[in-house]
Amino acid sequence: MARYTGPACKLCRREGEKLFLKGERCFTPKCSFEKRAYPPGEHGRFSGRRGRESDYQRQLRAKQKAKRIYGVLERQFRRYFRHAQSKPGLTGLNLLQVLESRLDNVVYRSGFAESRSQARQLVNHGHFMVNGRNNDIASTILKPGDTVLVRENSKQNTYFKTLRQSEETRTPPAWVDSDLDKLTGRVIRLPERAEIDGNLNEQLIVEYYSR
Ligand code: SF4
Repeated sequence: MARYTGPACKLCRREGEKLFLKGERCFTPKCSFEKRAYPPGEHGRFSGRRGRESDYQRQLRAKQKAKRIYGVLERQFRRYFRHAQSKPGLTGLNLLQVLESRLDNVVYRSGFAESRSQARQLVNHGHFMVNGRNNDIASTILKPGDTVLVRENSKQNTYFKTLRQSEETRTPPAWVDSDLDKLTGRVIRLPERAEIDGNLNEQLIVEYYSR
């Protein structure tokens, strides 16, 4: 599946806020946004944000931000939106739940990776099994009850060995049950709105696709 391969920090600067795409680095003074909190490009520093944003601009920015946080490109994001629309309930919440149910996101939420992009890489490299079967497709949508497990061979990798021995506590959200010792995770239920990034505005995304 195609993915954005450009510089991640540029995306934060474009959105005008920290999107926390690089794990620990985002919490250190090395964060690019701390040094250059203006849009990328030759005229970024001087462009500022002129006047009041139109409704369309706000809707577009909300959609772009969600895509960038979850590392999804336009075509797939639109597909997720149609899927969310076809489900009963609120389309905006359905969309966020679909995004949260991606395998790479569950790996990230379970504490096996520092960021979603790292989780995606670990999945692509074939380190995980879903419900007992090898799975290297980061976009797989998991359901409540599905289990994620680090493969036996991969448990011997330095990365996973260190992760198991690390004192650092990575608390998973209540909808995920994870065991860093056994390197297993399980989706207990779909996340509630309060358990998803509060900085996302799903209503504006729905408005964007409903124009
Ligand atoms: Fe964004 Fe993290 Fe880069 Fe900072 S370090 S600009 S939060 S991706």
